[in-house]
Amino acid sequence: MLKLYNTLTKQLEEIPKQDHLNLYTCGPTVYNFAHIGNLRTYISSDLLYRVLKYEGYNPRWVMNITDIDDKTIKGAIEKHGKDASIQGLKDFTEEYTAAFLKDLREVNVLVDEISFIKVTDVIPQIQDFIVKLIDKGYAYKTEDGVYFSIEKYQKDFGDYGVLVGEKFLEGKKVGARVKVDEYEKDNLSDFALWKAYDETADAQIFWDHPVLGKGRPGWHIECSVINDVAFKGKPTDIHTGAVDLIFPHHTNEIAQSQALLGKGNFVKLWSHAEHLLVDSKKMAKSAGNFYTLADIKAKGFSPMDFRYSLLSANYRSQQNFTWEGLKASSVARSRLIGSLMGEAMGSNEGKIYKQNFLDSISDDLNIPKALSVAWDTLSDDAVLIENKVATLMNFNSILGLGFDVAQKMVPINIQSLMDQRVGAKQKKDFKQSDEIRKQIEALGYEVMDTPDGQKLKKKLSI
Ligand code: AMP
Ligand code: ZN
Repeated sequence: MLKLYNTLTKQLEEIPKQDHLNLYTCGPTVYNFAHIGNLRTYISSDLLYRVLKYEGYNPRWVMNITDIDDKTIKGAIEKHGKDASIQGLKDFTEEYTAAFLKDLREVNVLVDEISFIKVTDVIPQIQDFIVKLIDKGYAYKTEDGVYFSIEKYQKDFGDYGVLVGEKFLEGKKVGARVKVDEYEKDNLSDFALWKAYDETADAQIFWDHPVLGKGRPGWHIECSVINDVAFKGKPTDIHTGAVDLIFPHHTNEIAQSQALLGKGNFVKLWSHAEHLLVDSKKMAKSAGNFYTLADIKAKGFSPMDFRYSLLSANYRSQQNFTWEGLKASSVARSRLIGSLMGEAMGSNEGKIYKQNFLDSISDDLNIPKALSVAWDTLSDDAVLIENKVATLMNFNSILGLGFDVAQKMVPINIQSLMDQRVGAKQKKDFKQSDEIRKQIEALGYEVMDTPDGQKLKKKLSI
């Protein structure tokens, strides 16, 4: 049975089988291109989703798109001027949303299986949720918006901050209110659910509401509401994100949702992925180590080489990105695909490897071990090539490394050219045999002459 680490209980938990499983991932803020650290987080969630599917959990995967916040508004105003409207905001964010989806596709995240929900598409539901929080006494109105009362929540539930740790509240006092979405742990403050419209900062971007007034939602409330909307009031089985979201974002999601739905009725398991470092440092524009997928491609690597490079570290460990490491991953991935396409004989089956593979992924997603099982399968001469290919294709439903290029059978026209070339060589007509080799190459294959005869290799195009 699959076991996963739960940030809330700080232990590994068995995931019980049910009809289906609700999986939620905090999505990007679409004001800029995603960097490779962001992509690591989404690839980690993709690996989890694939493992859930593989093990028969029937997961439903939902991700929000944060298209309204300080940064997207700022971007929309830079693009459309100080009269920017909601339409201008959408126009600005759609460009980065499309770029994000393209990035995900290129690193083989199963984009078509994700239900994406934009915040601007659920504004009425967000407003309703906030009104209910006001009615229940967990939220209050001020001149600059509606805020969540940690004091009231704490009085009723007593568990604010447990996602960070049991001792989170020790020595802390509830401070002033914060309007900004991101703040530090020592700043324990009531946070904004609905930010009142600010003429100078918001251009014409606002929604009006009879109780809440003119304004827009804060960041944390959107995820509480989208979970609720997407899973129709049913609990979220697994909620994922990177570690920096534990506080305040996920901590506040728990408070808002439990305040309305009751204790224990929001998320069953919290799964957090560690960060990607670059040259052992935090990725930052100012440090000059901030990379996107475009930078990776510009250096001649495939996005799939990047995906491969991530498989060597567990999602709960920090991982260090270096260009040398990416080069090594690129070579390894080509070797993996190359050997999958040729060689190896004998008899036996991939069964034992399948069990090892399943054991690895079930152990809190031990993908590095699963990858080594894939390599062991390949290098075992006792496994028939057909079995190897079938086993590796099965593993690839999780690894997502684009093995399908290797799986493709030799097309008939290529086979016929190969046969003609054998004939030419038998007649010692080397001119013709070289001519045929060129034709084969033009069709995307490489022919090698070995002591065992001709060998064919598909040129890697991904
Ligand atoms: P954002 O678009 O800023 O909301 O971030 C999208 C996701 O990427 C969030 O889950 C962040 O926690 C995550 N993230 C940000 N920086 C990194 C990093 N260096 N490594 C891994 N994930 C990150
Ligand atoms: Zn979120």
